[in-house]
Parts: sequence; C-alpha cells; structure tokens
Amino acid sequence: MSALVLVLNAGSSSLKYQLLDADSGTVSASGVVERIGEPDAKAVARHTVSGEATTRDVDAPDHHAAMRVVLDAFATDGPPLRPQDLYAVGHRVVHGGDLFRSPAIVDDAVIDAIEDLVPLAPLHNPGNLAGIRAARAAFPTTPQVAVFDTAFHQTLPPHAFTYAVPREWRERHRVRRYGFHGTSHAFVSRRLATLLGRDVSETNVVVLHLGNGASAAAVAGGACIDTSMWLSPLEGLVMGTRPGDLDPALPSHLAREGVPIEDYDRALNAGSGLRGLTGTNDFREVERLVEAGDPDAALALDIVSYRIAKYVGSYAVALGRLDGIAFTAGIGEHSPRLRAEVLARLGLLGIRVDADRNAGGPSERVVTADDSAVPAWVVPTNEELEIARQTLAVLR
Ligand code: AMP
Repeated sequence: MSALVLVLNAGSSSLKYQLLDADSGTVSASGVVERIGEPDAKAVARHTVSGEATTRDVDAPDHHAAMRVVLDAFATDGPPLRPQDLYAVGHRVVHGGDLFRSPAIVDDAVIDAIEDLVPLAPLHNPGNLAGIRAARAAFPTTPQVAVFDTAFHQTLPPHAFTYAVPREWRERHRVRRYGFHGTSHAFVSRRLATLLGRDVSETNVVVLHLGNGASAAAVAGGACIDTSMWLSPLEGLVMGTRPGDLDPALPSHLAREGVPIEDYDRALNAGSGLRGLTGTNDFREVERLVEAGDPDAALALDIVSYRIAKYVGSYAVALGRLDGIAFTAGIGEHSPRLRAEVLARLGLLGIRVDADRNAGGPSERVVTADDSAVPAWVVPTNEELEIARQTLAVLR
C-alpha cells in the first residue's frame, strides 16, 4: 500500500493542499484556493505539478466548493487523485487545547471537540473545521486525521504552562500556555538531533521558527518543555504584524485612553511587530531599509534579535544543557543578517558564528564556527511532510 497522503491546511478563506508520499517525502502536486467565500471577488486557484503552476479564477463560495475546485484541478492537470490510491487525508488543525496530545483520527466526537475549542482559536479552528467537513464529503471512505499545532507542546511541565492568574481563569476559561507551530518544532528538533549525530532522546535543543509568525521552543530529549506562544499566537517573539510579549496592563490602559477593544485586537494581530515598527511586515523590505540607513528599521532589527536572544538564553537555563540551535521558516532560513545578530548576542553561551557558513540561502547547514560551544544550524522546516508522517503513524 502506498503512503500517499493529501495534506490540507484550511484557513477561513483559503484551502492549501499538498499530495505527497509520507514515506519518501516526494510531493506529486500542491496548490491553494484563495478568497473562498469573498462576496466581491472570484476565488483564485493555483495548482502546481512538477514545478508547473496553473492559475484559474474559480467559483468557491464555501470550502465544499473549494474542495471540488481542488478535485477538478487534479482531474484536469493531474496527477490522478483516486480515493483508492489515497492512504489518508491529513488536516492541519491549529488548536487542540489540552484535549489532544497527539494526532486524532477524525470522527464526529473529534469534530465536536475541535468545535468546542473555537473560543480558544476563533480565527483558525472554524476554517480548519470547514476543511475537514469538505474533505469528509469528498472522500467519505478515506481515513481523515487531525494533526494539531498545539499537540507537540502538551509535554510542557505545569511550571511552564501555568499562568499566575486567578484559579477561576485557569479552570473555567482554560487560560494556560498552549503553544503553536508544533508540527514545525517537532520536525525541526528531530532533524537537528539527526544532523548533530545524536539520539533524539538525549539531545536538548532550541528551535527558532522565524516566519511571519514566530515562536521559540525548548525541546529536551524530544519533548517540548517550553515555548514562547501561549493562548493565542501573539505572545513571545516580535513577529511580522504581532508584538510578542507585552505588559498585561496595556488593554486597560488603552481602554481608559478611549481605544475601542476592536481596534486593540486589530492592532495587535495586524498592525504591530515589524509592521508597527517600520510600516512593512516583509523582512526583506526591512533589510533593504536597514541597508538604506533607515533608523526605524535598524531599531526593529535590534528589537527582534534582542528578543530572540533573550528567549534562547532563558531556554538554555530551562534545558540545563544546550546541544544545538535551529533557525527555520522564512526569516530563519533566509536571513544571514538576523542569524548573525542573534548569535552575536549569545557570546555568554560560548557561541561563535562563522560568517562564510552563515552567508547565503536556505540550505541545511551549520552556521557556527567549529570552536563554538553550541552549534547553530539552518534547518528548513517541512510542516506538510510532518503532518503526512504523523497521519501515517497514527493509522499504522
Ligand atoms: P514564512 O511565514 O515562514 O513564509 O516567512 C515569511 C517571512 O520570511 C517574511 O517576513 C519574508 O520577508 C521573510 N523572507 C522570505 N525570504 C526572505 C529572504 N530571502 N531574506 C529575508 N527574509 C525573507
């Protein structure tokens, strides 16, 4: 039996997919339907096979229609996607709360549980559910598996996940640290242990997932023991449009100043981080501005690298021994400048960057000098492959 898995990542108005072999990692097609359900615009579908992309304007008023668009793309542009060839459909689900420590085979009870978690992830879980429902309708006899972004962080010890807030908030409102980007942290931390030539169970690493969203994770012996995002993906590192760590007094201060709560939510999700500091959330543009001598961009780079280095330092304490650091996701993989700035701040840990190794693009490699006390690596992430592998593992 092949290990062909269709990985779906459904957002509120988009449906991303990849068809791949979970054993070999070979991708046979990928694509996305965007602007699903937008009243004023046609949806757009892009389907890529062997590097050739086909783009079409399509009708996709909801995720069921978007799923049909995907099936049509496979039928028209290939490869054939027959249910009998498909081992499973693997779904990315953002929030599994404390209900899911591992992937779950989707049934009605799992769907109800994901629904129940919507208050914890109002921007993400509804879209994820719409994708699951559409895929169940399209492939009624194919196993469907939900892989949760939060699950990898369910190994956090109580002292790392508990907030020092009233008991009622913790018990009734489920306030605790959950963490996100779990599939990426799982994939990259395991891969880094392999690259270091060590057994995962005896390796302590920090993974820096630095994309438009960004988080750090401390992973001890394959189990996550701390991570920088909590209830929502706002806390921790400075991101493209989100601020990371803030004083909890900020909302009440701004409310007293007359800022409506909706503006506050919007500003924290879409108008903060790099965008709030420089006007753009595109890190390439921030780097261009730094080159051009823009003081706001230079300050932004300092703030971003300072925050990341502080997290690495605190996670070195949490881990007790640090065997390696991984840089991953768009910025972590592509930006030698940011890696150099972060590593330069970690001299206390005996870390020394090697400028030649650090230069250049996203290939998997060590970027520190041979005499660096802790090696740092670029490890490209692959969340789709991780979802496919976890999907296969739970079914096998
Ligand atoms: P992701 O969310 O992982 O796709 O990462 C998106 C971020 O990576 C954006 O801020 C991009 O500007 C940044 N990025 C992508 N390519 C590069 C590059 N060559 N140099 C610097 N940043 C990059």
